[in-house]
Amino acid sequence: MQSTMQDVPLTVTRILAHGAKVHGSAQVTTWTGEGEPQRRTFAAVGGRATQLAHALRALGVAEGEPVGTLMWNNGDHLEAYLAVPSMGAVLHTLNLRLPPEQLAYIVRHAADRVVIVSGSLLPLLAPLLPHLDCVEHVIVSGAGDTSVLDGPHPRVHRYEQLIAGHPADHYAWPAIDERQAAALCYTSGTTGDPKGVVYSHRSIYLHAMEVCNPASFGLTPAETCLPVVPMFHVNAWGLPHAAFMAGTSLLMPDRFLQPAPLAEMIESERPTVTAGVPTIWQGLLAELDAKPRDMTSLRTVVSGGSACPPALMKAFEERHGLNVVQAWGMTETSPLGSVAYPPAGVGPEEAWPYRVTQGRMPCSVEARLIGPGGEVLPWDGTSAGELEVRGPWIAGAYHGGAGSEPERPEDKFSPDGWLRTGDVGTITSDGFLTLTDRAKDVIKSGGEWISSVELENHLMAHPEVAEAAVVAVPDDKWGERPLAAVVLRDGSSVDYESLRAFLGERVARWQLPERWALIPAVPKTSVGKFDKKVLRRQYADGELV
Ligand code: ADP
Repeated sequence: MQSTMQDVPLTVTRILAHGAKVHGSAQVTTWTGEGEPQRRTFAAVGGRATQLAHALRALGVAEGEPVGTLMWNNGDHLEAYLAVPSMGAVLHTLNLRLPPEQLAYIVRHAADRVVIVSGSLLPLLAPLLPHLDCVEHVIVSGAGDTSVLDGPHPRVHRYEQLIAGHPADHYAWPAIDERQAAALCYTSGTTGDPKGVVYSHRSIYLHAMEVCNPASFGLTPAETCLPVVPMFHVNAWGLPHAAFMAGTSLLMPDRFLQPAPLAEMIESERPTVTAGVPTIWQGLLAELDAKPRDMTSLRTVVSGGSACPPALMKAFEERHGLNVVQAWGMTETSPLGSVAYPPAGVGPEEAWPYRVTQGRMPCSVEARLIGPGGEVLPWDGTSAGELEVRGPWIAGAYHGGAGSEPERPEDKFSPDGWLRTGDVGTITSDGFLTLTDRAKDVIKSGGEWISSVELENHLMAHPEVAEAAVVAVPDDKWGERPLAAVVLRDGSSVDYESLRAFLGERVARWQLPERWALIPAVPKTSVGKFDKKVLRRQYADGELV
């Protein structure tokens, strides 16, 4: 029997039209650091996105063409998020914290002809431009000295002037195939060169619906969402699209991502849900401990992007009444892969063992664990293997570059099309994923594996430890051994011996690091994760204890 249902394409155009019309009174508030924040209604954002589409078309932007954005989280960036895919072009978010040569690489690899840049980032873009022959137009959003870009090439436009005069109430939006490219995002290259993931209209739409789901972020018109996660880090985890779909007001931090302004904007604008990497929350916790603020508006703080130390979650809850929810994902998974809510019937007292896991996959994401011999492992909570996933918002290939076919490297995609995540862990019979490590970070000592994440979590539960990262270092006898790099809290004088003794009460003796390093701060990647590549290089000769 054939279905009798309509087949309507799921597109970003639909999200734009719906949010602007039905949720026209919802607001996008952009923090400005001083004075009144900038406020726009969704109706105004929809109108300005329409004007932007006209302006981009006037610059010759064609269907399928990438448009780069080198921007903070703000109202203009949201307009680009909606306008560019809706006109059939491809939004290419550029990670402003990548090393300059990687940033130049991804602009050239994608062949961006037009780049929209936040005015405050012009000094970053200016020295790169001579190496970006593909870029013909630079559109400057907000204040910024454009004289740094002076020269015959490329043409420089002011965002406001460029969109002014174009109609805000109509555009001949093209009919879009839902499988068409809508957005392009490169991985942050924690473990190699950045690789481009091309999201489709359909994948963004379905993913946004899942983000709205109460079992994920739970977005409704009654909520205000603060995406601290940058809009260049996996589309701010889908929150801008989901908010426009659900009518959830957005509080955008722009470039004010330091703990003090974050605390201030939460206190004064009262968001209900926020999302970011653990490093951000570690900073906010220290800020609140030093200077408490009213955080009572926040019902959920989502932490993802790397393992969230249980000690951090508990400190937030006990000292500030904040509920931290852990989620797992990757650029390749849009990124929502799993969220750690306890199962039905489990009350707050019994919830911790579930909350400290990476959580459960939504219905649309399938997971399997692969053992060392390529065998599929059972979901028994103890068999550890590499996590593979598949689903409608999971990548099946990488962008091959302008005019090239997509690439499917064997180490990233299984022969039957699953994404190899490079993450190692276990899954319980009811679907709770616990990641013990990234395959590249796990410490192979003799025949045994030591989880760097487990050692880090224990160390970060020590009251005098601010941050701790554990990496593998070469060892003649065991192949590899763990090295613990520790950042102590201000004024602490705890020594390695006592840290080792503290760990010794929590893990098996053979897992205890013999090599230790006291460091001023754990080096971070462009998206704020522990950069273990750098640690391995810099601290491979830790002190023997
Ligand atoms: P990159 O791979 O360049 O770091 P991504 O942001 O795509 O960029 O990183 C995805 C990876 O981050 C995952 O494969 C996983 O190793 C790690 N990760 C994300 N969320 C979590 C989490 N909640 N717990 C542990 N690791 C996580």
